[in-house]
Amino acid sequence: MGTEKRVHTFVRVKPTANFAQDMIKFGPDNKTIDIYIKKDAKKGVVNNRQTDWSFRLDGVLHNTSQELAYETVAKKLVSEALIGYNGTIMCYGQTGAGKTYTMTGATAEYKHRGIIPRAIQQVFKATAHSVDPFITVRISYLEIYNETLFDLLSTMTSNGTSDMQMAVVDCPQGVYVKGLSIHSVSHEEDALNLLFEGETNRMIAEHTLNKNSSRSHCIFTIYIEVRSRFRVFSDVKCINSKINLIDLAGSERLSKTGSEGQVLKEATYINKSLSFLEQIIIALADPKRDHIPFRQSKLTHVLKDSLGGNCNTVLVANICGEAVHVEETLSSLRFATRMKWITTEPVLNETYDREGTVKALEKEIILLKQELAMHDSLVNRSFVTYDPLTDIQIAGIKSQVHKYLKGAIDEIDIVNIRQVREVFKQFKLIVSQQEREVEARLRSKYALIDKNDFAAVAAVQKVMPGASAWPRIYLRIGFSADRIGSSLSGRDLDGFLPSKSRVIISTKDLDVKEGVRSQDTANIDAELSKPAPVEDSQRPSSPPSKPVAFEQFKEECGSEISRIFKENKSILLARKKRSSTVAQRINFIKREMEGIKKALEAQKQERWQQGEYVDEKGQIIIDEQEFLLIMKLKDLKEEYRSGYAELQDLKAEIQYCQHLVDQCRNKLISEFEIWYSESFLIPKDVREALKPGGNIRPGMIPINRVMCLEEDEQDRFERMQETTLPACPASVSFYKAKMKTDQKVISAGP
Ligand code: ADP
Ligand code: MG
Repeated sequence: MGTEKRVHTFVRVKPTANFAQDMIKFGPDNKTIDIYIKKDAKKGVVNNRQTDWSFRLDGVLHNTSQELAYETVAKKLVSEALIGYNGTIMCYGQTGAGKTYTMTGATAEYKHRGIIPRAIQQVFKATAHSVDPFITVRISYLEIYNETLFDLLSTMTSNGTSDMQMAVVDCPQGVYVKGLSIHSVSHEEDALNLLFEGETNRMIAEHTLNKNSSRSHCIFTIYIEVRSRFRVFSDVKCINSKINLIDLAGSERLSKTGSEGQVLKEATYINKSLSFLEQIIIALADPKRDHIPFRQSKLTHVLKDSLGGNCNTVLVANICGEAVHVEETLSSLRFATRMKWITTEPVLNETYDREGTVKALEKEIILLKQELAMHDSLVNRSFVTYDPLTDIQIAGIKSQVHKYLKGAIDEIDIVNIRQVREVFKQFKLIVSQQEREVEARLRSKYALIDKNDFAAVAAVQKVMPGASAWPRIYLRIGFSADRIGSSLSGRDLDGFLPSKSRVIISTKDLDVKEGVRSQDTANIDAELSKPAPVEDSQRPSSPPSKPVAFEQFKEECGSEISRIFKENKSILLARKKRSSTVAQRINFIKREMEGIKKALEAQKQERWQQGEYVDEKGQIIIDEQEFLLIMKLKDLKEEYRSGYAELQDLKAEIQYCQHLVDQCRNKLISEFEIWYSESFLIPKDVREALKPGGNIRPGMIPINRVMCLEEDEQDRFERMQETTLPACPASVSFYKAKMKTDQKVISAGP
């Protein structure tokens, strides 16, 4: 992979007067270091131990200034951090080998300053020279001592030493230390202050806690956030990167220190975490390993995403050039060469921020517009614009849509997307405007009630007491209240509905039998006056005749329907009367108008014969009488028009009322028939079931069926045979068939 890198490893030799020249040799390219250990001839031991080693690294820093060391080791890594790659620099080696010198440097002299202050400087220099004014730098300084995390900058936080328990936390964005203070710095000086503050805290802690600084790991982290703006499209991004600068604890072997007690324990810890670090490095160097036990120690856990291969990693092995330390030197060089085999794949840490993206998109839009303009000019469409429509353009589209709706134009040309949208918008406007108009027109004539507005419906019921007694006809919400409305007398509606208005509750229609009957109550009476069939001679008292029963029905359960019927009829009558009055009036006006027209014609004739008076503007001058006639005619015309309009309205209302009356009549009859059957014709026990609280609702039982409940089908057939068959034997199949049909009808119900 192109971006694949290896950990860069360097060895830095501490300058010493006792440099073991015979033991340590450097290659000519300053990339190899060879170690020779002479066999101790005096001991006379011939051992097969290896005595020569050659280590190849990325660079050997020998007698190198701090500046050159920085340039060799850190400069590139820091500049890559500024474009989004995380970087880690570690110093490894025995105590006194120059790790702290390399990392922090000697604080006494400026030119002896180490990697950390130089890195800070480089970052801030980049900030100053950058065209991106939005670089933020933050800093944290962590110490790991005996598996305990210390915030070396906790004194810088407002509440002093934070008592929050720190912990290493894994999250999708990487590893971070919970509770570690991170400080924003805007100048190089602020950052250096933090470094020195941390160094001081390190020393104080060493003193008070009686700990040995060489046994702790220190991690100085620089967090960089760059927001690139106003750049070309691909540059709009937010970079988040960090540089870990790690001063590891001394790597010396335990045996050599001769430590005891507390120091021994510390040494064990150091070795433990360093040996875990070594194990991890071995694991990372092995491409077949997929599990890396980072969590084994705090150090390895903290370094998880700094060693894990997604960042630039540099190792500096600090060695002493003295012969006595050759074992430690060898061990450090071995560590460094192992480290060298770790492959890394630095990942760019960039996200795109909204604001910047908006800016970039704006730029992109400008570019695309230019592109479009060029395209249009090539296809001769340069008249088309893509800017938001102006008011004039919108007005133009509006009138086009209106013309289209009126049929004045057949089609609307499609010009561009904005125009198409505007056309649809105009259509929508027209539709909603018309909806409003229709509603307003209805409202001017009717009081509209939302059928789901139960309060309003209840109010209607209140105005019409007893309304709830019409369960089958009107109040099955879904009942047809327009009928109710028209059946109300004006008195009932006083204070509730606007005068002369009707209630409309749009609902399902009544289930009315087909066919309009045009008889009035007299016809009903005539129909009902047919004698009631005396089908049940066994009943103790014969049922009342239908006209009598009908009167009773109208008094009792049919009272509401009957009242509505009567009221509908009276409204119909009133409308008819009014209609004829208006018609008469219109005829009268018409005659009067004709008279005036004749008179005017006469006047005109007369004027014509006498010669016309014309004023200076050429207008004919008429006399007062003629003028009055014209005015009168005008008034009459107006009156005629309004009378005619009223007549038209009345005609429609009459038609409607007539329909209502017919429906009411049908309902009245059918209700009465049901009531009559259920009250007088069906057996007593069935009647019981029909009483309030009984299990059958009125109108539900098929009366024909009930009527033959007491007569067995077979009996009936036999009786029929007795009466009919002897006379005409051929009629058997006929009657059989008829009986079947009857039975079908019976079971189907009325
Ligand atoms: P470590 O941190 O590895 O224990 P130090 O950085 O404290 O070692 O070094 C020990 C001493 O050696 C310090 O006084 C330091 O100034 C000095 N020293 C180390 N490396 C160099 C160097 N490259 N040039 C000059 N002095 C050095
Ligand atoms: Mg040190």
